[in-house]
Amino acid sequence: MEITSNRPKLNQVIQSVARTGQKKKYRPRVSNAGACPRALTYQALGVEGRGEVGRMPVLLSDGNLHEDSTITWLEQGGTNVIMRQYGLDVAVIEGEPIDPWFCDLCNKEIAGNILHGHIDGVVDDGERYYLFEHKGLGDFGFENLDREFPKGYITQCSAYIKGLQNAGFDITSALLLVKNKNNSEYRQIYIEYDSESDIARAENEWSGLVDIFSDVLKGLVDLHQTVATSRAPGANLPDRPFDQESFQCEYCAYSATCWAGLRAEVSSRSTGNVLSRTSDLGQAIRQLADAREEKRQVAEKEKEAKRKINLLMAEQNIRSGETQDYKFWLAPFDKKYLDESAIPVDVLEVARKSMTFMSIKLKKL
Ligand code: SF4
Repeated sequence: MEITSNRPKLNQVIQSVARTGQKKKYRPRVSNAGACPRALTYQALGVEGRGEVGRMPVLLSDGNLHEDSTITWLEQGGTNVIMRQYGLDVAVIEGEPIDPWFCDLCNKEIAGNILHGHIDGVVDDGERYYLFEHKGLGDFGFENLDREFPKGYITQCSAYIKGLQNAGFDITSALLLVKNKNNSEYRQIYIEYDSESDIARAENEWSGLVDIFSDVLKGLVDLHQTVATSRAPGANLPDRPFDQESFQCEYCAYSATCWAGLRAEVSSRSTGNVLSRTSDLGQAIRQLADAREEKRQVAEKEKEAKRKINLLMAEQNIRSGETQDYKFWLAPFDKKYLDESAIPVDVLEVARKSMTFMSIKLKKL
């Protein structure tokens, strides 16, 4: 007997709540730092993105909760965070339509060509003021902070400092706090921004590593100006800055639209001439050939090592062990797959989608 029930299914609830929410319209945002100009242009043109809203609304809501929690810790330690969600005008985007929109947080109309944003707050240490910016990351993004500075976040902080200065505040530095959402660990980056030279100095406060970034705000303004130019009637879309298999394209709501005309696009190009080895393209081709050879050798090595390990562990009848350097163990896992023969043909036809990908072929001459 089939038991029907009204019990809520959270995933479906989230999807339906998020879908009925207001669609995010394009406008120049500080938080777009590091975004793909082509994706922003699709958004500005009103192109329909992937219907599935995914986990984004939950991630945004969780981000606010993490930020509140961090501020509570700071305040318990005697550090005040003021001016939360304070709205700022950072720059004018030339060529962007000026039709105003209503900012609920600032309770006023903002011209459409203004790069407008809201800060997480300002920290008052009793002597100085600092912009306070909070971000939450998963393990991968958090661990990546050891390898590279988060340029997009540094750009956002610099843009907000400029906005605070435009509004008459004497603030030149920022505390960027990043929380690992998986284990609640924190990393702190101290940023000094010189708006005259448009140069930011970032120092990660856990290892003392310092890096300097130039043309910081210019990069963000240029990004939005590219969108302003590319959204004009008859204009071309910006070039794709990412590879089709990059994580940016994988998670992009416009990937199906963006890559749809790939086959025709490639066919319409002409055949290239013989290039010198030292030309940019010649060097990149060589780099790819070398990388593929290295990858092949590494894959061979891995395959051989796995074959030996499996053989030796089976001979010794063990499932785990330890050397002086490593622990090792066998971890069987299940992989789900669809048995197409069990799916009715008409359903399969509707569900089967095709997407064109592009590979780069090389042949040694
Ligand atoms: S699919 Fe990739 S290149 Fe295309 S718009 Fe999205 S992020 Fe940009």
